[in-house]
Amino acid sequence: MLQEQEVHAAEMELTFIAIKPDGVQRGLISEIISRFERKGFKLVAIKIVVPSKDFAQKHYHDLKERPFFNRLCDSFSSGPVVAMVWEGEGVIKYGRKLIGVTDPQKSEPGTIRGDLAVRRNIIHGSDGPDSAKDEINLWFQPEELVT
Ligand code: GDP
Ligand code: MG
Repeated sequence: MLQEQEVHAAEMELTFIAIKPDGVQRGLISEIISRFERKGFKLVAIKIVVPSKDFAQKHYHDLKERPFFNRLCDSFSSGPVVAMVWEGEGVIKYGRKLIGVTDPQKSEPGTIRGDLAVRRNIIHGSDGPDSAKDEINLWFQPEELVT
């Protein structure tokens, strides 16, 4: 049982979630949004954009030394992306749980990638408080968030 004090200490967090072009193309927008909603998280910003390659490189800047970086940025800028900010207690960490691990073949059943993806992994989620903050700032103006 959570003590009352712990409940009050629990911080509301924001995380950045994006349905990648392959997820949009496969018609998985409502399925993915529904999983976050049913868990009890709150959608506070959403828009659909086709990122430029330059923007994709900014979004994935921490992976720029990796051999797949160029392919990744090409794929991320290849079509519409649904960019979202979700709010909730523990949403950064639990959002990653809902998504599953990077490789869809290794993602557990019950996760978004485990249930819905085979090769391309269809969704992005911030991996911690720092990246959540940076990614929200990159994708959204403060006034676009309805909190
Ligand atoms: P994520 O946080 O689970 O999305 O994974 P990362 O932040 O490590 O990588 C970002 C994205 O790059 C992943 O979602 C994949 O689309 C892609 N990626 C990661 N690792 C690999 C890899 O080893 N090979 C290829 N081709 N793509 C990768
Ligand atoms: Mg990542």
